[in-house]
Amino acid sequence: MWNSITSLEAGTDLKSVPCTGRGQISQSVPGLLPLLLLLCLLTAATAHARELPATAPVPGGIAFIPLPATSAEPPRAYYAGRRVLVARDGADWVAVVGLSLDTTVGKQWLYLGRPDDRANTLAFTVQGKEYPTQSLTIPDRRKVEPLAEDLKRIQAETAHMNAIYARWQDGPPDLPAFDLPVPGVQSSPFGFKRIFNGLPRKPHSGLDLAAPAGTPVHAPADGIVADTGDYFFNGNSVFLDHGQGLITLYCHLSEIDVRAGQAVKRGDLLGKVGQTGRATGPHLHWGVSLNGARVDPALLLNLPVPQASK
Ligand SMILES: [Zn+2]
Repeated sequence: MWNSITSLEAGTDLKSVPCTGRGQISQSVPGLLPLLLLLCLLTAATAHARELPATAPVPGGIAFIPLPATSAEPPRAYYAGRRVLVARDGADWVAVVGLSLDTTVGKQWLYLGRPDDRANTLAFTVQGKEYPTQSLTIPDRRKVEPLAEDLKRIQAETAHMNAIYARWQDGPPDLPAFDLPVPGVQSSPFGFKRIFNGLPRKPHSGLDLAAPAGTPVHAPADGIVADTGDYFFNGNSVFLDHGQGLITLYCHLSEIDVRAGQAVKRGDLLGKVGQTGRATGPHLHWGVSLNGARVDPALLLNLPVPQASK
């Protein structure tokens, strides 16, 4: 169940259509409309694997862009020089474009066929989004004001992680609907601007789920373990490659139970919740990267993120 982008300016007849976007509802048969809409709603309620939130063409969000019909082969699409995930939507294809938090608001272009073919593009509009500010106190000052030797390590780790996010392996023509990797509640949402010990730092690039130390962390969908390691900020971490540039990240683990190259199935154990790296308490930092852009993991969950009861 795809939700068509509403701000598409393709110069074609691609328009937002409620429910399926496949245009099967005939306006000339009004008596059938309520029944068909009901069927649509019932399908949406049962098809967990396909039920997705509305397209979120904002920094940190995902744009779902219907692609012009081609052959049975999935068309290739590129954004900002990177190949993007293309998923099937019935008989159609949809580009699933990750938008990083620093994406410029306004008109953007998806390139079709080749990353640089200016004659073959689809324009879409990225809307603005303001994320709240969050202030946190980190007792370990070095995790906020790293020493010179730490900066060297951080630089090397950043380059290493960017290489992982740039991976491409052909994957299934479907976007997985993720299960929650731990049975926790949200302790910090994606995108918050961060102030540590009074100093502005990078915005929150993932979703934090609080859970007791030792809670098992499970793969939210099938994938290949792209890498594991111990990182300055992220602590013990696991990267999962789900194919087509969709990579997920699990941080601050007390224990890692997989190794690089291993194939995992949805629900398999990845490790245990901990607070290694920069953390104020035991939690899972869960990151999702699409075409090299960190996006809000909540957008790909098959159920809403559990909130703490007040
Ligand atoms: Zn986090």
